[in-house]
Amino acid sequence: MMEQQVTKKIVAHFDIPYLSFLDNEGRVLQALPSLAQEVSHLKKLYQSMVIARVFDAKAIALQRTGKLGTYPSILGQEALGVGMGAAMKPEDVLCPYYREVPAQFWRGVSMLEILLYWGGEEIGSCFQDPSVQQDFPICVPIGSQTLHAVGVATAFKLRNEPRVAVASVGDGGTSRGDFYEAVNLAGAWKLPVVFVINNNGWAISVPRSIQSAAETLAQKGIAGGLACEQVDGNDVIAVQYAVQSAIERAREGRGATVIEALTYRMGDHTTADDARRYRNATELEQYQKKDPITRLKNYLMNIKAWDEAQEQKLQKEAQESVAQTVAAYAKYPIRKPETMFDYLYETLPEAYKAQREEVAQLKEISHHG
Ligand SMILES: [Mg+2]
Repeated sequence: MMEQQVTKKIVAHFDIPYLSFLDNEGRVLQALPSLAQEVSHLKKLYQSMVIARVFDAKAIALQRTGKLGTYPSILGQEALGVGMGAAMKPEDVLCPYYREVPAQFWRGVSMLEILLYWGGEEIGSCFQDPSVQQDFPICVPIGSQTLHAVGVATAFKLRNEPRVAVASVGDGGTSRGDFYEAVNLAGAWKLPVVFVINNNGWAISVPRSIQSAAETLAQKGIAGGLACEQVDGNDVIAVQYAVQSAIERAREGRGATVIEALTYRMGDHTTADDARRYRNATELEQYQKKDPITRLKNYLMNIKAWDEAQEQKLQKEAQESVAQTVAAYAKYPIRKPETMFDYLYETLPEAYKAQREEVAQLKEISHHG
């Protein structure tokens, strides 16, 4: 039965702002922030994106020739990782998911460490550069790194340290309970943490359109009382600006932020996937026009800060640097398989002792030879 006409008053309003500085062709949409006034910095952002792309192509080739385990490509998402890395201070802590290696490289993780990691050698997560040793290793379980970041941020708050935890999470990861719990605690305890959603349009074969009924993924932070915004994830200037602003806000004790960075996964989910089975080729072509590297290159060329000679030099140097890394990876001593048991327990249980012996009897296994 119909009730009488009732009046409801609106008790809350929300807006999700969207930020971009460069369009697809690298033309300026609005006055650039101060970080983009320094040409040397823009060149560094550009170089980092190019190196990340060269590394990525090589990593896929290594997997295809049986020299690397499963690998998740970052093709098309270089601006997101580089912008995130550039936004952080060395003393901040990164809790990355598995598609943010450009951020890790910016902060000091080496290409060799990332190859070792995906090659199954756990020492790849033991970062050698002292400036990055408090960063977390790559997190493969979906969404749990957002909770790790909340834990890190809680420690910073308890110790009264002006540091910020930054976690990245995929679009699919924001459907996990872990993400909602992290957002809730970050808001309730006003923690110095920034969540960056890497919305690349796909969660393996699940498109964004059916992943969530929410109009934006950024607004998922509103329920937790967080600042929420979207940014063009293929615009490295916008990414750095947005993440840096959120980090400084957090550092000043003004609370956590959810940033949804809109990008596109131009490659397969991982080397164990074939996106041609579920993705329309025209969709990929449409996003290739939004390429983050081409965009910044166009801008730099427009302001006469870059030319083809510099481009050739950079491509050559990037190829050489990656080739040197691959050579070091190929020569890296292969750990004996039984050592997988060695750091599980302080004292290995009897049942595992027998298994360790059994594995030790196996013929040596080559994982990247
Ligand atoms: Mg995704």
